[in-house]
Amino acid sequence: MENNKNYFDMAEIHEECGVFGVYNVDNASEIAYYALHSLQHRGQEACGIVCVEDGESTLVKGHGLVTEVFNEKTLKSLKGNMAIGHVRYSNLGNGIENVQPFLFRHHSGDFSICHNGNIVNSKQLRNYLEKRGSIFQSDSDAEILGHLIKKDLKSQRIEVMKTAFNMLEGAYAFAIQTKDKLYGVRDKYGIRPLSIGKLNGGYVISSETCAFEVIGAKFVRDVEPGEIVVISKDGIESHNFSEFKHHYLCAMEYIYFARPDSDIENCNVHTFRKESGKLLAINDDVDIDIVIGVPDSSISCAIGYAEAKGVPYEIGLIKNKYVGRTFIQPSQELREKGVRMKLSAVHSIVDGKNIVMVDDSIVRGTTSKRIVNMLKEAGAKSVHVRIGSPEFKNPCFYGVDTSTYEELISARMDVAGVCKEIGADSLKYLSADDLYKAGNRSELCTACFTAKYPTDIYGALEDANKDRKF
Ligand code: SF4
Repeated sequence: MENNKNYFDMAEIHEECGVFGVYNVDNASEIAYYALHSLQHRGQEACGIVCVEDGESTLVKGHGLVTEVFNEKTLKSLKGNMAIGHVRYSNLGNGIENVQPFLFRHHSGDFSICHNGNIVNSKQLRNYLEKRGSIFQSDSDAEILGHLIKKDLKSQRIEVMKTAFNMLEGAYAFAIQTKDKLYGVRDKYGIRPLSIGKLNGGYVISSETCAFEVIGAKFVRDVEPGEIVVISKDGIESHNFSEFKHHYLCAMEYIYFARPDSDIENCNVHTFRKESGKLLAINDDVDIDIVIGVPDSSISCAIGYAEAKGVPYEIGLIKNKYVGRTFIQPSQELREKGVRMKLSAVHSIVDGKNIVMVDDSIVRGTTSKRIVNMLKEAGAKSVHVRIGSPEFKNPCFYGVDTSTYEELISARMDVAGVCKEIGADSLKYLSADDLYKAGNRSELCTACFTAKYPTDIYGALEDANKDRKF
């Protein structure tokens, strides 16, 4: 099954999670279900929902897509007007014990937690907590937070939380639920997104605003970096746990992870990508007939590029959305042509054409190589690859599954080398400066391109370098 998964899953890079919370809205579990479904692109390995009714928390979680884990019966068992939910991707710790949300039973009252991101000092915090008697059941950072805040959740709750969040270093967005409150928290660097919406007199929080549209919620504002938002019967209360505040939002959220219909920190994701395509086209004097984008995340960037060049944008690649994880293992012959099961070239569009193929990123290089080859087999005269991000040269330690240099083709080769390796006629990347321009931003996390990590990374770089053979 694992091979099957790798075979059909063409994405070279994964986000690790999406979080959602709802407060004071009838049928909260159904709202969470629809919201998680719209966040499914952030994680397809597992999901879960915790609902609260009369102070009692109920949890349902499992491996699989939202539509596989939940059905009418399970949703009916989740009663109440408060819920938090989670979708998860992970390349580590795949047991059910790692599936979120986590539900903690405590003498001061149940509480549940889920998060998106990665705590870079988790090893140190685990040691610290274990020395003080904590026992861990999972590899998850959410459990670390649970142990840090369980101390006395009742009396000095917000002070305990402030102290805890000041101990966590890294990128995170947390949704936390007690018997009568919903909390939304973002790291002080602002790396992971989290937004607040209003729905039927209640509130929702979500990793992405695309969930608001689906459930009919109205966007209120983003949770600020270093902020704890407390949602209760008194409305929204705001607490700062840190005076250090930056907006180093993960650039890959705009480039690749987020849905084009989401707005993050006042910038629509489609608009960002389209703008980056326009910037990519400036001074790019390649002679072409058509522009195509690799579906789905590169289409906006390709449209921007085509518009700026005055060249037609065409659908030269089609994605088969129905290749699921349960698809039977095909024959060896088909496996070798595997990428076609998920993506195929439109022969009549690309045949005889000089093409610019826009993709969002090149991480390992294997997918780009397959697609260029596929286009040439379909008759393309030339394939010029244009990438809507800079060269991906450095590992991410903030919840994206690239943690070694070995995996990254641009850490091993220069642009000419990568171009040759993927079989393209030419290759050009967006500059890091253009990322800021595309989003009209002064701050962004661009560490995987520039090696400028916004946080201390606690020796992670040395670990990532350990197996470096170049
Ligand atoms: S290193 Fe790259 S992928 Fe990781 S948070 Fe920063 S921009 Fe995003």
